[in-house]
Amino acid sequence: MEAVYERPGNSGVIKIKEAMETKLNAGEVMVKAEFGSVNHVDIWGRMDYPWHKFPRRFGSDLSGTIDDAGTSSTFKKGDRVLLYPIKFCGKCERCLSANENSCLTRELYGDHVPGFFAQKVSVPEKNVIKLPENVSLETAAALPVAYTTAWHGLVSRAGLRPGINVLILGGSGGAGVAALQIAKAFGARVFTTTSQQWKSERLIKLGAEGVFEINEKLPENVLNSSGGIDIAFDTLGALTVPMGIRTLKRGGKLVSIAMTTGSEFNFGLRDIYSNNIDVIGAYLGTRNDLFDLVRAVSSGAIKPVIDSLFPFEEVARAQEKMENRTHFGKILLKF
Ligand SMILES: [Zn+2]
Repeated sequence: MEAVYERPGNSGVIKIKEAMETKLNAGEVMVKAEFGSVNHVDIWGRMDYPWHKFPRRFGSDLSGTIDDAGTSSTFKKGDRVLLYPIKFCGKCERCLSANENSCLTRELYGDHVPGFFAQKVSVPEKNVIKLPENVSLETAAALPVAYTTAWHGLVSRAGLRPGINVLILGGSGGAGVAALQIAKAFGARVFTTTSQQWKSERLIKLGAEGVFEINEKLPENVLNSSGGIDIAFDTLGALTVPMGIRTLKRGGKLVSIAMTTGSEFNFGLRDIYSNNIDVIGAYLGTRNDLFDLVRAVSSGAIKPVIDSLFPFEEVARAQEKMENRTHFGKILLKF
């Protein structure tokens, strides 16, 4: 079985159907799916964009076991694995310098090319990561898109370190909670946002020092509580990026990972150049980031927050939960 978008539209365009027999190409392994997770990119994936082909199998986060390792593979049947969701060439300058998320021919599985949500999926061996024994398949499925993007933005690009002030804009979704946990694991002071009381309580339990509502007073409120932010991590887009920049200390950094609230905004350059501000765009992360994360989970430094678990067949309901914003952390699927 596989999960397919038949055409652009709401969650009603999702069909669970019999999958075609998949064959193993050279350099690929067959993975039997165990757990997946839902991301905003899945929901954007059913929008009517020119690069979206329909019908198309979707899904970018998947863990499972090796079903067929083919010939001359380093994997063997039964190995517990996690998939890296970017299709990369492995040969261009960006790939050879371990920047697969900037590969010149980069595509995202599930968005630009058919995704992972099938009971069996064949994937290039270079996209497969073997899991340590103490990292469960369930936990691992939460990591690839949300946690890797947060790790890439905060750690690899913005230089997260102990004692600095981090602000997360859009704190209760998958990437927002991931960013909070990663920042705490590095010993940062974390300030975050949400509009719901129950989510605010959860964020404080996870170690947030201050939780703010998003309104025009946000920059002032954050500055008063924190004394200024070193890294603002934005998961929301045009609504909050200008606010995030206004909370920064001189020399601070703004990391942008999504545009849920829009792509275009007006902002005076004066506040950027005269304050030595770095604006960083983060598109997912590298394989290295995902390896680092798996190690951080294995060591116990990070325990991904799981909101709920749906049977794979109910992926439409899982996506609706994300669209209705009644979740906190990651929504998983069991195959
Ligand atoms: Zn490449």
